[in-house]
Amino acid sequence: MSAKHVVIAGGGFGGYYTAKTLERTLPPDVRITLVSDVNYLLYTPLLPGAAAGSLEPRHVVVPLRERLRRVDLRLARVTGGDPGRRELEATLLTGSPVRWRYDHLVIALGSVSRTVPIPGLVEHAIGFKTLPEAIALRNRLVRQLESAEALDEVELRREYLTFLFVGAGYAGLEGLAELQDYAIDALRYYYPRCREAGMRWVLVDAAARIMPEMKPALAEFTAELLRERGVEIKLETQVKEVTDRSVTLSTGEEIPCRTVCWTAGVKANPVAERLGLPLTEGRISCTEHLRVIGYDDVWALGDIAAVPDPARPGYPCPPTAQHAIRQAKLMGENVAAALAGTGELKPFRFKTLGAFAELGRQQGVASIKGIRVKGFPAWVVGRFYHLAWMPGVRRKARLIADWTVDFWFHRDTAELGQLGHPPPLAD
Ligand SMILES: Cc1cc2nc3c(=O)[nH]c(=O)nc-3n(C[C@H](O)[C@H](O)[C@H](O)COP(=O)(O)OP(=O)(O)OC[C@H]3O[C@@H](n4cnc5c(N)ncnc54)[C@H](O)[C@@H]3O)c2cc1C
Repeated sequence: MSAKHVVIAGGGFGGYYTAKTLERTLPPDVRITLVSDVNYLLYTPLLPGAAAGSLEPRHVVVPLRERLRRVDLRLARVTGGDPGRRELEATLLTGSPVRWRYDHLVIALGSVSRTVPIPGLVEHAIGFKTLPEAIALRNRLVRQLESAEALDEVELRREYLTFLFVGAGYAGLEGLAELQDYAIDALRYYYPRCREAGMRWVLVDAAARIMPEMKPALAEFTAELLRERGVEIKLETQVKEVTDRSVTLSTGEEIPCRTVCWTAGVKANPVAERLGLPLTEGRISCTEHLRVIGYDDVWALGDIAAVPDPARPGYPCPPTAQHAIRQAKLMGENVAAALAGTGELKPFRFKTLGAFAELGRQQGVASIKGIRVKGFPAWVVGRFYHLAWMPGVRRKARLIADWTVDFWFHRDTAELGQLGHPPPLAD
């Protein structure tokens, strides 16, 4: 009889932690294959730090091969599959198609940015979900500062110095706060003409409040802090048009602006649809045991899965890393129990003890067991939390080193947009 085979699709928070748990819970004769399109886990909560230059980009990712001893990692882009025949389809880096047969499939392919058909959005806005996007955003910011510094007309300078973020969830809020903090620092030391013109930072959201992932009181507290820092927050407002020089809002206001960052929510990875599995608002419908509804051998978790939220009956879990990590640990136990055909499956139970958001260097907000803190103490809470969750001593040490350097020195303003894209060889 051939060895049992568990295939995990996706190597982010859900996939990586599932693999880690399965390495421990499955008997040695069970094969585990992890299929991912990149060979690292991106630790997204630290993406704003990478964008602002307080963290080295390589230090916010965890190389999967370094951390997974028993798992067979295959780099490939999952394209679809046939759950009826227990097959997953993908394309290898070489371009060749490949199929894996499995006994159990765990789907952890995450989410993608949700865009809406707004004229000019795709052409002119930049996302903030991947490492290349975070670095591109930083480079664009530095280029705008350099462009503005070289201009004589103050009005035109202000156009280059206006930065507009759409979407006030974790990504938009922390991204804006970190980059604003970075830009304030840069202007203080290096850009006298930009300092004279002043910057404008705008956060736009269609909802009536910021940070839907947080309790309303903490969200309001965060909004007040941002307003004190000069951020204009425009709620119940939509973007109607984006051009290379302006953004038009649903209120009729036209904001002259050269940098638009789109972080207005996520939707399940489109592979979910191609797998032919049941969906709830685009996410794969799952039971509280993380099994896909109607299947014994297909499981899903994280952003791509609609898992009932124990904290809010009737709703699926929000798309957060906190949920994906907790679900992954349970996934490892439940898949092992299903393979063994013995133990009972456990339901997903998780209630957050608190929430926090980082708002730039040594600034943040946090709520722990109902107690709200802001400023440096909240920032320290965040640091300890990330150090606890960042896998591997080596990565933790690199983070501590980066944060220590950042504590004492200015951030640098070199714009290295050509990194990884050298010009073609000259004749
Ligand atoms: C900027 C930012 C900040 C955030 N901050 C926080 C925070 O502070 N706290 C919090 O709890 N949450 C935060 N989140 C949300 C959090 O990142 C997600 O909820 C979490 O990553 C979900 O885990 P996942 O495993 O479902 O997806 P992911 O971690 O995104 O993993 C999906 C994996 O699948 C791979 N993949 C995708 N498509 C394919 C394919 N076709 N073939 C093969 N592989 C594929 C991807 O490369 C990735 O490795 C933040 C998100 C962003 C963007």
